[in-house]
Amino acid sequence: LIQLYLPLNFMGTVYREIKQATLDIAQMFALIGRDAEIQDKPGARPLQVPAGAVVFEDVHFAYVPERPILRGVSFRVEPGRTVAIVGPSGAGKSTISRLLFRFYEPQKGRILIDGQPIADVQQVSLRAAIGMVPQDTVLFNDTIEYNIRYGRPDATMEEVEEAARLAQIDRFIRTLPEGYATSVGERGLKLSGGEKQRVAIARTILKGPPILVLDEATSALDSFTEKEIQDALDRVSEGRTTLVIAHRLSTVVNADEIIVLDKGVIVERGHHRELLAANGVYAAMWNRQREVDEAKATLQRATAAE
Ligand code: ADP
Ligand code: MG
Repeated sequence: LIQLYLPLNFMGTVYREIKQATLDIAQMFALIGRDAEIQDKPGARPLQVPAGAVVFEDVHFAYVPERPILRGVSFRVEPGRTVAIVGPSGAGKSTISRLLFRFYEPQKGRILIDGQPIADVQQVSLRAAIGMVPQDTVLFNDTIEYNIRYGRPDATMEEVEEAARLAQIDRFIRTLPEGYATSVGERGLKLSGGEKQRVAIARTILKGPPILVLDEATSALDSFTEKEIQDALDRVSEGRTTLVIAHRLSTVVNADEIIVLDKGVIVERGHHRELLAANGVYAAMWNRQREVDEAKATLQRATAAE
């Protein structure tokens, strides 16, 4: 019986691990809508990230040959700095983050991390070095603790809670009857978009990667939630190389460089003040968003006064 039990138990563990790994990969590829095709080169080495400099060198990319998406994109994110990418929907912003993860390969140009072309390193090591907070977080059908701990399975409970605190979700979790043991997803609690995003931020804080990619949510978050998420994102990006696909003015204002992407080309770049002074595409976007924000605020005041 013991002999039978041991292998079964072992198989159970392996099965669980495979299932989790599969779920993660399946989830990832479902998000980006493609199959795993890219292979490690023979003899590929693990990526070394002593500093965390990210470089795009004249990157050209098309999903289908007849429709170029990125047409010669070059930029550099210095270690620990933040570069924001802004631009209209369909400009190619999310494509840049997919290329950094090497879900796709540029047809021309290179992407380097601390001088190493990402095409030459082991994909596992590349993805371990990058933390991604996506626009739409899909959580595992498991407890809140599991969903946060996924960032670093050997973390202590204290570390899980600390990450949740930094992500501004700890207080909410404590109001739940089962706290961190509360199930989320189909079998349990339904979380709002903002709550899910903060769980993803907590997971990323726990993972502590040297490089971060944030695809900010555009969805209609109320301004309180938006502020909480912004604070959480600011905390996680502190001291890490951050590439942020930005929809919020507050992120953009403090970025070390803002890149304005339109139809796969960088049309403007610089600091917030420089770009406002240039009075071009960015300034127009900024002014439009301000008008929208002011209109919203007026509406809120009017509703509150009723
Ligand atoms: P953004 O994030 O700036 O809104 P994306 O980088 O997601 O834009 O997409 C840029 C363009 O590439 C869009 O026109 C989009 O329709 C197209 N695109 C995105 N993913 C794919 C894909 N898997 N296959 C073909 N075209 C795609
Ligand atoms: Mg996008």
